[in-house]
Amino acid sequence: MNGITRREREVTDIGEIIKILDKAKVVRIGMVDDGECYIVPMNYGYTMDDGKLTLWVHGSLKGRKLDVIRKNPKVFFELDCDITPFEGDVACRYGVSYSSVMGRGTAVITEDVEEKKHGLSVLMKTQTGKDFTFEDKMTTIVSVIRIDVSDYTAKRRPLPTE
Ligand SMILES: Cc1cc2nc3c(=O)[nH]c(=O)nc-3n(C[C@H](O)[C@H](O)[C@H](O)COP(=O)(O)OP(=O)(O)OC[C@H]3O[C@@H](n4cnc5c(N)ncnc54)[C@H](O)[C@@H]3O)c2cc1C
Repeated sequence: MNGITRREREVTDIGEIIKILDKAKVVRIGMVDDGECYIVPMNYGYTMDDGKLTLWVHGSLKGRKLDVIRKNPKVFFELDCDITPFEGDVACRYGVSYSSVMGRGTAVITEDVEEKKHGLSVLMKTQTGKDFTFEDKMTTIVSVIRIDVSDYTAKRRPLPTE
């Protein structure tokens, strides 16, 4: 993956990256559908194990994203938080603060009941901060997608100090 152009804005501290992952709540998942871009915003959960990031999303049992992933599981994602517009004395000094993470990975539609329950628990933990458990039958009415992230970058633009 290309490096970040504005290196001073790159976030490399894993604790800071985890704060962004905790806060953003919505991930935009980019796919390629027979050569055409397709992007879907979704709520997500994540795990970070020794720097290895995995995202979990859930949804209905049918739909375009599932059809696309079955054909081409390669995805690119973006998530962000801390969005605050700021003003300047001239047009080019207006802007917006942000913290964001982007990366690529492989989407896997999980079929194993225990793995689906794990994914749903991870998702609810990220979304609510609470621990939820799931009955087997609850996993039959939703699809659960695991995104194995191969690499990612994080970036932050703070509010101007003056
Ligand atoms: C903030 C946010 C959070 C969301 N969280 C979740 C989630 O956790 N799980 C989940 O399943 N869905 C979530 N959604 C809805 C999600 O974006 C999709 O609409 C949904 O997952 C269906 O995707 P699909 O590819 O199966 O759509 P399909 O219904 O198969 O899409 C058919 C067509 O409908 C249009 N379409 C689909 N989704 C959207 C959309 N969001 N806005 C406008 N047009 C659309 C597109 O043109 C698409 O080609 C969220 C949406 C938002 C905005």
